[in-house]
Formats: sequence, structure tokens, C-alpha cells
Amino acid sequence: MRYRILGGTGLKVSEIGFGTIPILSGNVPVLPDYFSPDEKTAINIMNYAFTLGCNLFDTAIVPEYGDAEIKLGKFAALVGREKIIISDKSRFFNGDEMYNAVHESCKNLGTFVDIYFVHQVDEENEDITFGKYGAIDALNELKSEGKIKFTGVATHYYDILLRGAKDKRVDVLQGSGNILERGMLDRIALEPLFKQKGFILNKVYAAGILPAFFPVKTLLSGVLSYPISSALIGIGTDEQVDAVMLKEPEDYNCPTFSQVISVLEKNFVPIPCDRCQKCRCIYGTKIHIIFRQYNYYFLGKDYWALRKLDLNIQESAELCKKCTDMSCIKKCPQTINIPETMQMIKELVKKHIRNSII
Ligand code: SF4
Ligand code: SF4
Repeated sequence: MRYRILGGTGLKVSEIGFGTIPILSGNVPVLPDYFSPDEKTAINIMNYAFTLGCNLFDTAIVPEYGDAEIKLGKFAALVGREKIIISDKSRFFNGDEMYNAVHESCKNLGTFVDIYFVHQVDEENEDITFGKYGAIDALNELKSEGKIKFTGVATHYYDILLRGAKDKRVDVLQGSGNILERGMLDRIALEPLFKQKGFILNKVYAAGILPAFFPVKTLLSGVLSYPISSALIGIGTDEQVDAVMLKEPEDYNCPTFSQVISVLEKNFVPIPCDRCQKCRCIYGTKIHIIFRQYNYYFLGKDYWALRKLDLNIQESAELCKKCTDMSCIKKCPQTINIPETMQMIKELVKKHIRNSII
């Protein structure tokens, strides 16, 4: 296992981090195929990863990730708290709620947290999070109290990551990306502000989809070629530990975006959207999320993707039909005809929803 420095924190983290969603128990629909191991099994799996050099363990507050936080706390006590780095998170955006959540997390873990993230910050809650007495202020207070060592912001949005990168109160960022959805990683690599922050990457397998199309080594090598500190992989069995920890790439190479698309083209015609998030819809349509759901529909997440698309595609496609602005097209480096693609997705959803009802 190789290690990288987590930005200005000085922490040395393993290039591959352990994502604890698959070791949770309970009825938590975070992952449709979680393994639900009992406490002893979960601790053994984490310990096995630790023996192979993994020192970064990422979790979330109970019950967001079921009981994973409690299991991780017990593992930390067993292995020696100082030997591992715990990153934890919760979806509370105002200061009071975040303050209480961190106390709750520490109680669940039975110890302090190395990095605590405000989780899933998006456009609706970012001003509360970054504002006075928001979650970031609370995390800084908790840092001075010794409950946490470093503060973090976790989000799927580039603009919010950039806001975090500019904010002195934020130590570490957590975002998503993989060899297909790499547009954000490309932008991060070009923006010097990110170099001061530690960066932890999630969704390396794209919700478990990509290993069916690419070797694990290619997926890891691809993301580790970017200036990130650690790539988190959800792990729920010893076999999965082997598949990831024993496949650490010797060097870092990322297949080109066209190479990735051409592999996927063997199955369907993907929308060549790398989720760079440069396009902006004047009505607030989240173009990159709709395009992701379309691609995921053909990549094995059909039920989930269709249901999500059904929630908003009709309205988004209608707005595109009437739109006279269309500035989104000019912003797209992949020159995707966004409004036309929206109509195509609307038709697909109409057809498949109808078929699934019949
Ligand atoms: S064309 Fe569609 S996605 Fe683009 S700005 Fe107009 S409504 Fe938004
Ligand atoms: S549609 Fe184009 S601009 Fe928008 S996220 Fe995808 S690749 Fe980027």
C-alpha cells in the first residue's frame, strides 16, 4: 500500500480508503446489495484491510450508514485508535445540529474523529453550511474542543468544492468521480486552490457499476492519476479487500475519456457527459445528473435510474422545448446537444415506464 499526504493536515493516508457502507447492518437503502455482516465479521474485514496497509476508514453517523459507525469504533479500539484515521460525516447544515451530531458520532465511535465532513452539501443548503453559525463554524468549534482534528465538506458539486477550497475554515474536501465521471477531477487538477486541501474521492466504481466493464486496477490507476489523497472503496467481504488492496496499481494511468466511452459503446450509445458541470440551466435543471441517470440505466441500474428520471424528465424536457436561451450548449466541452438529448431521454422514460406498468 502506498500513502499520500492529506493536504495541509499532514496526515499520511493510504491511497485506498475503506468505505464502510457495505459493513452496515440494518434496513438502510444506501446500497441495494449491502452485505449486512454481524459485528465480529465486520471488524475482521476491517482488520484484514488494515493488515494490508489500509489506514483510512470512512463512515457516517448512525443511522445514515446503519450501525457502521459503531462497528468502526469497536474496530478502532481493538486495533489501537492512533493507528487508523477515521473520517465521519452527517447531513446537518446548521451549526447547532452539526454540533450535536458530532457529539453523537463520538459517542457512537467511543473516540474522537480525525476528519468530520458536512455531508451532501448542495445548492439548497450551501449558504447555511458556509454561513455564520453554520455547520462549518460548528466543526471549527469542535476542532478547538478536540472532538475532531480536521473539518471537511463532502459534496457532488464542483462549485461547492471550489467554495470549500477557498475557505480557510475547511481542511479536507470529499467529492465523487471515476474514469467515466471525471470532468470534476479534470477541473480540480487544473485549479491550484485545491492543492492546499486534502481530497478524498468517493464513487470510484460509480455505485458498483464500472467493475463489470473495467478491471479494478484500471479504475484505481485512473483515479489515482489525479491529485487526490485517497480513493474510497466500499468493502463488505474479505474477497473485496483482496480485489482492491491486492490490486493496487504499480503506476498511475488513466484511459482517455474516448477509450472509456468506446468500451461502454459495446453495450449502448452512452451520452458522452463526463459530468464536468460547466453547463448551467437557467431553470436550474441538473443536466449532469439526468445524463448520469440515463447512462446508469443502461449500465445495470435500470430500475433505480428510471424511477429517478421519471421524477423530473418530463418537466425538464418541456422547459428545453420552450427555451430560447440554450446557453448550456455553448458551455459543454463535449458539444452535446443538451435540449435534444433531453427529448430523447423523455421518450425513453415514457416507453420504459409504460412497458414496466404493462
Ligand atoms: S436548453 Fe434546456 S437545459 Fe439548456 S438552459 Fe434551456 S432549459 Fe436549461
Ligand atoms: S453536459 Fe457537457 S457541460 Fe454539462 S456536465 Fe456533461 S459534459 Fe459537462
